[in-house]
Amino acid sequence: MNQKCKYYCYRNTRKANKTDILRPDKIELVIFDMDGVLTDTISSWKYIHDYFGSSNERSVDEYLKGKIDDMEFIKRDVSLWQKDDNPVTRDKLADILSDVPLMKGSEKCIVFLKNHDVKTAIVSAGLDILANRVADELGIDYVFANGIKTDNKGRIAGEGLLNVRLMYKEETVRRLVKQSEISPRRIAAVGNSCFDIPMFETCGLGIAFNPEDDCVREVADVVVEGKDLSRIIPVFEQFIN
Ligand SMILES: [Mg+2]
Repeated sequence: MNQKCKYYCYRNTRKANKTDILRPDKIELVIFDMDGVLTDTISSWKYIHDYFGSSNERSVDEYLKGKIDDMEFIKRDVSLWQKDDNPVTRDKLADILSDVPLMKGSEKCIVFLKNHDVKTAIVSAGLDILANRVADELGIDYVFANGIKTDNKGRIAGEGLLNVRLMYKEETVRRLVKQSEISPRRIAAVGNSCFDIPMFETCGLGIAFNPEDDCVREVADVVVEGKDLSRIIPVFEQFIN
């Protein structure tokens, strides 16, 4: 057990995958994790569990130990919210998540990047309902997050829509590289947990923001402590021509 890690470290089931990528000469795209980075919340999934008084601790543990996959993980989470007599709708989830606050300094940080023609993206294993709202409010260019299937009345149907595998965010980085046609070297990734390490390993610059444990702190190229995203701006200033 890796004591540096807040949770059962996923590195116990997944090896490090550091690529020999060069440090950026300039930055053209910044990828942000959502939960704990763009939003001031631990997890969008947990936010909904807290609302319904449910807990997904058991499936988190089984997922991290490799006993269940992402799809099963999402399915189990959703099943805890479903009530036969009072079906949960997508609108209800959006309503619950509408209270999730943006991280302090997030607007300032995104405005700075936009003013310097740097593209922005969210890569989150959290819920797309929240990711799309955050992207709209901040003006973010690309959004990758996970969804929940609904029926024709907007009621959640028990299955997930998997876009981002929590332990394999580098897969999403690769999709983003293709879509944006920006070299990985010129991409910075900002994250707060060890699930963001695979992004650090595939991008030119990895920034740990308000990191939740030493596991992510040690792998990052830069560490920014505290809950204020505008503190990252001086890091970007070094890579903007
Ligand atoms: Mg996070």
